[in-house]
Order: sequence, then structure tokens, then C-alpha cells
Amino acid sequence: MRVLRDRDWYKTVEEVFDARTVLTIYTLMRRRVIERMNGVVSSGKEARVYLAYGPKGGRLAVKIYLVSTAVFRKGILKYIVGDPRFQGIQPGDTRRLIYMWTRKEFRNLKRMYDAGVRVPRPVAVLNNVLVMEFIGLNGSRAPLLAEIYDALDEDELYAIYRSVVYNLWRMYCVARLVHADLSEYNIMVRPGPEVVIIDVSQALTLDHPNAMDYLVRDIRNIYRFFREEAGLEIPGPEEILEGVTDCRREEKKEG
Ligand code: ATP
Ligand code: MN
Repeated sequence: MRVLRDRDWYKTVEEVFDARTVLTIYTLMRRRVIERMNGVVSSGKEARVYLAYGPKGGRLAVKIYLVSTAVFRKGILKYIVGDPRFQGIQPGDTRRLIYMWTRKEFRNLKRMYDAGVRVPRPVAVLNNVLVMEFIGLNGSRAPLLAEIYDALDEDELYAIYRSVVYNLWRMYCVARLVHADLSEYNIMVRPGPEVVIIDVSQALTLDHPNAMDYLVRDIRNIYRFFREEAGLEIPGPEEILEGVTDCRREEKKEG
């Protein structure tokens, strides 16, 4: 893959991003977080992910939230209302909301990473730009579980299933968070198989009033995928939920 020269890069970002976003990227370059930007890895409605290089040549994923999307506010408000970390935020200020949202993804990543959940290592956050470990394979990004599962054998699929449930357990019982958008599209798979959970911007603390509903939905998604798409013999969603939240029972006993 060709590393973009500064002028090419500037032309590319100018077309996609507003001046403040370009400035934010240059600030991260001046601070020597990012040395060079490379090509786009994914361009969704709300965010774009780029491959970049750090000053020591290590690969980084740079997730840039688009500041000018109307869909964004509608989509994220339901996660923000009720989250005690967002108290006092007026929904009117889109840019500020998106900066907070980016920061929220960074903090969620850090909280999960520190709890031993396998997520990309968070590196830096500034405004609407989040820098993290690049989850790669042979020069490009690792495949999503949705993209690769039909090429895997049963043993690998069971190993991936167990690893997903283990990571969910760590997320709930150690990080005290619920992912809230978990599916085969937000799980990357590296050889091993090693499972990496991504896209944690909407993750909720357990004191969020809807945390349990989102956890149940996450587990239903996981169950449906592994049972129906991958064809594995796995316990039902209630039993998975019980395992993932088994720390609750201990707490009830003590409390
Ligand atoms: P989309 O709506 O397209 O899913 P999103 O807002 O949900 O975008 P993510 O799921 O976090 O954003 O990232 C989009 C895509 O970028 C992922 O599906 C994955 O292919 C790639 N990606 C995200 N994070 C990383 C990473 N750390 N390393 C490598 N690739 C990544
Ligand atoms: Mn995603």
C-alpha cells in the first residue's frame, strides 16, 4: 500500500473533512502521535477509519467521526440520555456532542482494555479523532467475524464463541460495561483464533437504566449468530446471560 504524500493526503481530507478536523489531524501529527496517514479502511455514515503510522513505524487505526451528519444525533441520543457521564449536555450542540461521543469511545476502550477485555489498545483522542491499535492481518485489516466465519472449521468457531463469551464476562464483571451494539460485525478475528471486540462508542455503564436490555440484546445477537449462522451447539441465551453476569449472584449473596 502506498503511503500518501502530505499533499495527496491534504487533498483527500479536504474533500471529506471540515477545516477543524484537518487541523485536529495536523495537531496529532505535531504531537508525534501520528507520523503519516495512509488509506481509508472503512467509510461509514458516522465515522471513517484510516490506517496510519506512528513515529516508530507502528500501525495505527484512526477513527474520525464526521461532524456534519444529522443521522448522528438521532442515533446516539438514546445512549446519552440516562448516562450519568453525560449530565448537563445540551443536545443542541452537535459538534460538542460528537467530541464527547469520541471521548466516550476512547474512555470505554480504555476501561475495557484496562479490565483485560480484548479491544484495540487506545492511543490518543482529540476532538472527533480517536487513535488506537490497528488490528491487522497481512498488510490490511483483520476480517470481521461476519466476513470470515464460513471459511473456519468447527473447532475454530467454538474457540471464537468461547472467547466472545469470556470477553463479555470481563466486560460486565470487571469493566462494568455493556457493549450495546455487539454482533458478528463488531468482532474482528485474527489467527489463533484471537477475537478483538471493536466499536465501543455506545457502550454503557451498568447503572444506565437500559443496560440490562442492551446486554440481553447483545447476547441474543451472539446466540443467534453462533447457533443459526455458524450452526454450533451452544447453551440458550438465558444460560449465556447467567454465565456472563455470574458476578451479580456473588454480589447479591454478599449484599
Ligand atoms: P460502521 O457503521 O461502518 O460499522 P462504525 O461507526 O460502526 O462504522 P467501527 O465499527 O468502529 O465504526 O469501524 C468500522 C470498520 O473499520 C470496522 O468494521 C473495521 O473494518 C474497521 N476498524 C475499526 N477499528 C479498527 C481497528 N482498530 N483496526 C483495524 N480496523 C478497524
Ligand atoms: Mn461497526
